[in-house]
Amino acid sequence: MTAVDETKHESRAFEADVAKLLHMMVHSVYSDKDIFLRELISNAADACERLRYEAIANTGLLGDDPTPRITLTIDADKRSLTVEDNGIGMSHDELVQALGTIAHSGTKAFMDRIEAAQGGDKATLIGQFGVGFYSAFMVADRVDVISRRAGTDEGWLWSSDGKGTYSVSPAALADTPGRGTRVVLHLMESAKAYTERFTLERIVKAQSGHVPVPIAIIEKPGAAPTEVADGAALWTKQKSDIKAADYTDFYRSIAGQFDEPALTVHFRAEGRHEYTTLAFVPGSRPFDLFDPDRKGRIKLYVKRVFITDEAEVLPRYLRFIRGLVDSADLPLNVSREMIQESPILSAIRKGVTSHVLSDLEKLAEKEPESFAKIWENFGVVLKEGIYDDFERRDALLALSRFKTTASASSWRSLKDYVASLKENQTAIYYLAGDDIARLEASPHLEGFRARGVEVILLADPIDSFWVTSAPSFEGKPFKSVTQGAADLALIPRIDTKQEKSSEADKAVTSFITFIKETLGEAVADVRPSDRLTDSPVCLVASELGPDRQLEKLLAGAGRLKTAAKPILEINLHHDIVMTLASLGDDDRAFKQDAAHLLFDEARILDGERPEDARMFGERLARVLKRGLGKIIA
Ligand code: ADP
Ligand code: MG
Repeated sequence: MTAVDETKHESRAFEADVAKLLHMMVHSVYSDKDIFLRELISNAADACERLRYEAIANTGLLGDDPTPRITLTIDADKRSLTVEDNGIGMSHDELVQALGTIAHSGTKAFMDRIEAAQGGDKATLIGQFGVGFYSAFMVADRVDVISRRAGTDEGWLWSSDGKGTYSVSPAALADTPGRGTRVVLHLMESAKAYTERFTLERIVKAQSGHVPVPIAIIEKPGAAPTEVADGAALWTKQKSDIKAADYTDFYRSIAGQFDEPALTVHFRAEGRHEYTTLAFVPGSRPFDLFDPDRKGRIKLYVKRVFITDEAEVLPRYLRFIRGLVDSADLPLNVSREMIQESPILSAIRKGVTSHVLSDLEKLAEKEPESFAKIWENFGVVLKEGIYDDFERRDALLALSRFKTTASASSWRSLKDYVASLKENQTAIYYLAGDDIARLEASPHLEGFRARGVEVILLADPIDSFWVTSAPSFEGKPFKSVTQGAADLALIPRIDTKQEKSSEADKAVTSFITFIKETLGEAVADVRPSDRLTDSPVCLVASELGPDRQLEKLLAGAGRLKTAAKPILEINLHHDIVMTLASLGDDDRAFKQDAAHLLFDEARILDGERPEDARMFGERLARVLKRGLGKIIA
């Protein structure tokens, strides 16, 4: 060892979140410990790619060692495994920042999720996502990281047993890689299998066979390296030469997820712009899908050089897609900031987006069940595109799947819906709310059911926004069943129930006027309904203005000052209504109570509360008392 300045030795405590994460690692929540190697190799490959990028502007960084490489060195006698790269390396401050804190927003969000999860859920959650460097402590009781930032001549040694503190001190240059990072794992007794060459080789091939940097193993100190992965970029190979397992392996290393991809999109665009895309729809939901800060995760390469993963190659509504685009015509020396503005990139964005959507469409056609799984995971996000991406609205509507009154358990497409329109039906009817089961029980659907008219049930918050942005599908507008007149009179009923033609029609009409007077300002109107068959009342919104569900959402988000008053619709053929209408002036007070209670019933069925809880209680008590009159007296 050459002399180093011991005064620079410092000992530091891990940030609290890191300490927590480490505790979980050590107490091994991962059943599959092999994944530590994937994490370290992935970091090493990232470091090589970052160097490749920085070297475009500063070729001096490469020195006389231009070829990126990752080397795994075994020392069975010392029970250690070393993962070394000749990538960008880390300075003192970078070491402290990267390995002492959770700088990574993804890792932070992951921690929050873990915190929130209970018992068994934790294990599956952790099993699903990579958490990076700290996974080394699953297999090692001490980890040393010796790193030298490219272009500098100082090396630093970071060391920790993963129990709350770490130290950083200057490393002797003789013990420091010429450039890059050496991670030395002092393996636990239980992890000594990682000093067996064949074990390592098998794991590397299975997990990291397609990282774009070659990987070699050195079997014992002093031995020659043997290459176990060639670093050839998978996406540059011919599709016919790639096996499904290769894609899965690549997907796992690029997405940091451990499931199977649900769809693989691999194509080469030629012509005006030349680029290759290899992208995947994950088999399960990434945990941060709804994190508002979550960016797209498509990596941008130029001629196999990694440039950035912040180019936002895909629109937000495809943010669940993982993968990369490798362009042959973007200039290599363009800055990351400039790239955003490049017309070439915007052509690539268009091309990749269209291709992904058309592959999804093909899947929907050929393998509806696989597509249904994708829809279950990501439909909510895809639907954002219906109002975000006007140009592709039709394509996205065609991809969309819905629960409907015809099939609340399986998914229906709009094509299916339009194919089964009823005689004289001119619109696509929908009911929006926040829970499918409650929607299904809504009185608004009765008149539609009686006519066999299918109604789409929309239970995602996003639905109210796109559906009211006035889309239509195959010329049919979307229409809320809780808004405006139902227009059902022209569609023949299919049920056998006959509308009792009431000679008391006149009485009922004046009862409606009576209700209107009683409720006064609380409602915009009271009118007869043709959407009710079994329930006495329901609330609807006027033709103009927002649908009631959207109104609630806007009000909840503070984006609506005054909510419009609802219209109360009355079922003229309902027994209760007809009987109430036939009561005379002696029962005026009782009829007033009933009018208020009917209004409150309609509110409750819409998931709201009675107008005035105390009055509601009192009215209900009076009406019940009258019903019980004979028994009580
Ligand atoms: P992630 O890779 O998702 O950022 P990690 O926990 O795997 O999270 O790594 C944390 C950070 O440590 C990386 O972002 C990187 O800055 C740094 N790092 C880890 N390994 C290396 C390495 N071999 N070379 C350079 N930097 C590294
Ligand atoms: Mg990592």
